[in-house]
Amino acid sequence: MIRQVHSREVKAAALSRLQERGVTIEDIADVVFLMQAPYNVGLKIDSCIESVHAVLEKREVQHAILVGTELDILAEKKSLSEPLLSIVETDEGLFGCDETLALGSVFGYGSIAVTTFGHLDKQKIGVIKRLDTKRGNAIHTFLDDLVASIASSASSRLAHRLRDEQEAEMERQLQAQQNRKQAGQP
Ligand code: MG
Repeated sequence: MIRQVHSREVKAAALSRLQERGVTIEDIADVVFLMQAPYNVGLKIDSCIESVHAVLEKREVQHAILVGTELDILAEKKSLSEPLLSIVETDEGLFGCDETLALGSVFGYGSIAVTTFGHLDKQKIGVIKRLDTKRGNAIHTFLDDLVASIASSASSRLAHRLRDEQEAEMERQLQAQQNRKQAGQP
């Protein structure tokens, strides 16, 4: 019988994989903070952490994490066949499958996610920079892009939520004004 994998299992595997590969939710949230703080006065790191958690709820993101990190791990174990092994090992400049896999999961979060991903791909910051810097036998050819995509989606989500909150506040104020008017208050 074909086993249908429960989404709980996929989520747990993706989260523990990130942890095993040395990336914490806080690491990703720090990147989100740096991306969104210029546009969001008073932004709290807790909101960034919450947004990263929300993005990690998406199956598409979980699947991308599992596929990408699996290839990194297989490359570390030298279990990929050539020439893919050398390409992944060296993070070959023209190899774009790592970016393509990661980019695929940001589309659901709109254009801010896409442009932020492009920015992070060029200006590697925080944990992305750490992953991109080769240390020992560790290979993070896919992981750095996956982290950039999670941070980008979480940034875009925050930007849209901020606008929703601003609009809700404006509507609340307008309603309060109308209520005062109806009650004959200034
Ligand atoms: Mg890469």
